[in-house]
Amino acid sequence: MREREIEERIAAALGEEKADLVIADATLLNVLTREIQEGIWVGVRGGWIVYVGEEARDLIGPHTEVIEARGAYLCPGFIDPHAHLDSVYQCAEYARWVVPRGTTTTISETAMVANAAGEEGVRWFIEDTKGLPLRIYVLSPSMIPPFPEFETSKGFPYEAFEALIEEDFCLGLGETYWPRAVDRDPRAMRRYARVISLGKTLEGHSAGARGRKLTAYCAAGTTSCHEATGAEEALERLRLGMGVMIREGYIRRELEAISPIAKAGLDMRGVMLCTDFADPRMVMEEGCMDELVRRAIAYGFDPLTAIQMATINPAAYFGLRRLGAIAPGRWADMVLFEDLREIRVRKVIQEGRLVAENGRLLVEIPRHRYPPEAYRTFA
Ligand SMILES: [Zn+2]
Repeated sequence: MREREIEERIAAALGEEKADLVIADATLLNVLTREIQEGIWVGVRGGWIVYVGEEARDLIGPHTEVIEARGAYLCPGFIDPHAHLDSVYQCAEYARWVVPRGTTTTISETAMVANAAGEEGVRWFIEDTKGLPLRIYVLSPSMIPPFPEFETSKGFPYEAFEALIEEDFCLGLGETYWPRAVDRDPRAMRRYARVISLGKTLEGHSAGARGRKLTAYCAAGTTSCHEATGAEEALERLRLGMGVMIREGYIRRELEAISPIAKAGLDMRGVMLCTDFADPRMVMEEGCMDELVRRAIAYGFDPLTAIQMATINPAAYFGLRRLGAIAPGRWADMVLFEDLREIRVRKVIQEGRLVAENGRLLVEIPRHRYPPEAYRTFA
């Protein structure tokens, strides 16, 4: 980030310079205050939001793109905090389907490709995540293979983990099965120690764990779990300070069973929605995070809470300070839609650019070509 760019944003916010993009007269779903604010104008400069407030025609210059948004709801781009894109998706194809429906950020595990193709495979996958109208962050593979007593794989050595975990696009350590942590597997302990020193997240996988064992898993430093199968398990994890990612995807659908927490009067900051393994059929026919938000609303979460669970909550959990909200100083990833229950996405703005409209992508997506050796792996 150059100093000049910061100065430009300040100047645009003060009305001394023009915005690149202005959204006029939207109904803002403010995920920071849980307010619905009508007649809101948003100004964008250099991919950042610089203005949010009352009418601001002074931001409009001859080169400013203006989106008239009267009657439309405006919310931050949706974030999927736990996905396994490395398992079945080519990122470009995934982006082609999910971006027009409002998903603008996905955090993906990389353990499956690491199992199949080792360090090299993770590099191929990271290349695949680049150049898209979608932010894809990764999590480092945890222990590959997780159960070496029963499995063989290419492996992902400590040195490879060490290099990956320091990258900005790597937000933490991918899911570590709870017995590996609670049994103090030296591979887990070494990785946990490094991630804790970096202040990144330690993704959990505490299927079936409760009481002392779940507490010990948290005491180790584990920060999330996407394996709660019902309201009681979700509540136990929330009380222990874990980020609870409610899973609704191909592997399992747990949103309905966990939804009683919507009526419990709890603080929902720690609750997120995730696909875990996004069902390709759902992605193509119904949607991705937009569909999860719709289902959360149908199961009794109020619309603002459902949207928080797919925007500010995951952004806050991962420490993504520039994402998850529509406010000056945040990246301009935004969704315009109709109907607060049906969430019919009309326009998607990513990094200040209108990238999709009425379900169609407006930008070219480069398709990454995996090298021939990638087709000769088997896990
Ligand atoms: Zn998972």
